[in-house]
Amino acid sequence: MKILVINCGSSSLKYQVIDPSKEEVLAKGLCERIGIDGRLVYQPKGGEKEITEPSLPTHTEAVQAVLDALCNEKTGVLKSLSEIDAVGHRIVHGGESFANSAIITEDMIKAIEACNDLAPLHNPANLIGVRACQKLMPNVPMVAVFDTAFHQTMPEVAYMYGTPYEYYEKYKVRKYGFHGTSHSFVSQRVAVLEGKPYDSLKTIVCHLGNGASVCAVKNGKSVDTTMGLSPLQGLLMGTRSGDIDPSAIEYFAKKENLSFAEAMNVLNKKSGVLGISGVSSDFRDIEAAAKEGNKRAQLSLDMFVYKVAKYVGAYAAAMNGVDCIAFTAGLGENDATTRKNVCSYLEFLGITIDEEKNKTRGEEVKISTDDSKVRVYAIPTNEELAIARETAALVK
Ligand code: AMP
Repeated sequence: MKILVINCGSSSLKYQVIDPSKEEVLAKGLCERIGIDGRLVYQPKGGEKEITEPSLPTHTEAVQAVLDALCNEKTGVLKSLSEIDAVGHRIVHGGESFANSAIITEDMIKAIEACNDLAPLHNPANLIGVRACQKLMPNVPMVAVFDTAFHQTMPEVAYMYGTPYEYYEKYKVRKYGFHGTSHSFVSQRVAVLEGKPYDSLKTIVCHLGNGASVCAVKNGKSVDTTMGLSPLQGLLMGTRSGDIDPSAIEYFAKKENLSFAEAMNVLNKKSGVLGISGVSSDFRDIEAAAKEGNKRAQLSLDMFVYKVAKYVGAYAAAMNGVDCIAFTAGLGENDATTRKNVCSYLEFLGITIDEEKNKTRGEEVKISTDDSKVRVYAIPTNEELAIARETAALVK
């Protein structure tokens, strides 16, 4: 079975062709600068990366360029388009309408459009990708896999905000959570590595990348997570502020003479470790600056670690215990120092880290010592494989 996985943004489109039964990536790449000029990156399995500059005025041309590359006589991985059994689309926000992935129908597109207000930067772009694929592959089933779906199991006490109840009733103002595909994938890997049933474990997943969130998974269900109505809430991130007193926003917006939209832009794009360090949103640049003695760079790293540890403690309380902690995404998978520093706050839980094992990068490894009361893992996430699996399961 061959699944095309699409993650479509407003001017970019990432893709992979995956055989989910063999867990094999046959080709991957991305289109960039859609609507500007156009750039296509294509890499077949075991082959060289090819970069071309086809004209990509809209997403339809971008999908067509991807399909052409996939079927190219010399470097393509498909003999014809008929080899694609289904397309799995990453859709960011499913609101309260979607607790699971689903085959895309016209009614469903309307339901996704109804969530556009909740994710104005992401959902419309995701749907443009769906429409472009439908146009070029009218007989191929399309599946939507939502970032929010995994968190629909959160109890009311976790997802309600302390705002007037009618805002929830009228506008669905509440916590939704994101990175659900990753939290689900990683928490399931934990159960496999533990050799225990998924529904018997209390696991905390720390997805630490440019976007970052922590999730409490109790008996196979998300019971709380740090991101909220949007991905702005929770941890300090690459450019996002995470938790903040809303009064601070009113205060600095007045002082800086910013509109509400401008203030939100500051919180989304100019804050986080970038805003604190003044160096970069990339943790590797910040770590380099901190090593050279840049105090603000060090502060941003310390704040990041502190907030991750604080939420792990909170979620251990929310679940009345924790069996396993897993680190994933760019930093979680690769950065031994961040993992070690987070865990050093968690000694009260009986956690001890094996420094040698913690040196791992990009591999599935138990990094806690054998006598650690809570098992700690580094686990690479694979959202594309998770989307391909969900898609295959639905169209079978
Ligand atoms: P992601 O959003 O999951 O792709 O993660 C991107 C972030 O992970 C960037 O800030 C990178 O600097 C960081 N990252 C990736 N590899 C490493 C590494 N080896 N050490 C430290 N940070 C890393």
